[in-house]
Amino acid sequence: MSKKRKKRKLKLGRILLLCIIIIVIGLGIYFVIPKNYGYKKDVVKVFKEENIIDIIRQNKKYSKVLEEAILNNSFNKEYLLDYLNINYIEEDNYIDNINKLLVLGYNSNDINTFYEKLPNSINIIIDNEYDKDIVNYLNLSYFKEDYLDRYIKYGYTIKDLKSPYDVTNIINNFTYEDNVTYVNANLDKDYYTDDINISNEDAMKLDILVNKYHKLDSKFEPSDLEKIDSKFASGNNQRMRKEAKDHFEEMCADALKDGYKMYAGSTYRSYDYQLGLYNRYVAKDGFNAAETYSARAGYSEHQLGLAVDILNHSWDYISEDNPEYTWLINNSYKYGFILRYPRGKEYITGYMFEDWHFRYLGIELANKVRESNLTYDEYVARGL
Ligand SMILES: [Zn+2]
Repeated sequence: MSKKRKKRKLKLGRILLLCIIIIVIGLGIYFVIPKNYGYKKDVVKVFKEENIIDIIRQNKKYSKVLEEAILNNSFNKEYLLDYLNINYIEEDNYIDNINKLLVLGYNSNDINTFYEKLPNSINIIIDNEYDKDIVNYLNLSYFKEDYLDRYIKYGYTIKDLKSPYDVTNIINNFTYEDNVTYVNANLDKDYYTDDINISNEDAMKLDILVNKYHKLDSKFEPSDLEKIDSKFASGNNQRMRKEAKDHFEEMCADALKDGYKMYAGSTYRSYDYQLGLYNRYVAKDGFNAAETYSARAGYSEHQLGLAVDILNHSWDYISEDNPEYTWLINNSYKYGFILRYPRGKEYITGYMFEDWHFRYLGIELANKVRESNLTYDEYVARGL
């Protein structure tokens, strides 16, 4: 090897060594000298005063929320880890609002979710009590942001629920899904206090919901009422809408083949008829009792021409210990009918268990409602 080559090799070696030394020293400085991740000097000073500089360095990243909290003099040491995890948003009162939410009991993940998904409802959340389920409500397809205030209030008053019905089961098994469903169904409001008026056009839809919150017009009368074959009816003036009538007759004929006799005991009732009926019940049983089984005029499904109170073989209203009842529970949905006011759901439907009252919804919908295991009120409240 020539001297020249040896010299060049030596030179290269030195340069390499120098590079290694520089890298080692650089890394040393990088790891040994503490970093402040871009926080302003005044802020770092506070970190030191508050004795939290180690936590800040362990976190290894800049948090604009933390810096703003300190600069605004609204830093609360208790929530340090939350500040570090909350995303910054340019907005008036942002830090104040975050502090209010933290004090209420929400954590940084909740707060990030609220600002991402409910930016226009932050004040509603702040003005209410802590509700551990808000994030859960949000995940439901039937969550309505406009109702957020009601969801929160309903959730923390459910234990004090007052109702003419036994609500122990409702309270003991109450879920956040129920919370949203019941509020969507208006159950947080008293019956008849905030009517939703059904147009006469909508009243002709087979799936229309009528209950103590959804009212029919006093003039509404379905345009396609037909008399039920007197073989399957008490008297010869029981009327339902054509489609419901056809399916009712078919159902009774098939039940008869299985050995069960049943008849329509009460079907279409006009507004005026319902008015008289309700008033008679109030006079007979008193207001409170009548309210549990009789609809006020305009609030009855019978005015739709889609409801039928069914009689058993001895012309009494069907009761759950009758074989006809069991047959209906197992078969009525195949003809488009559902038991409208089931046991245990009195609080939701607004009526006592009525083993005799069936509502026509059409076969497809009746099947879906049955599969959902919900009352029709809940089914609609979930937008299903
Ligand atoms: Zn009825």
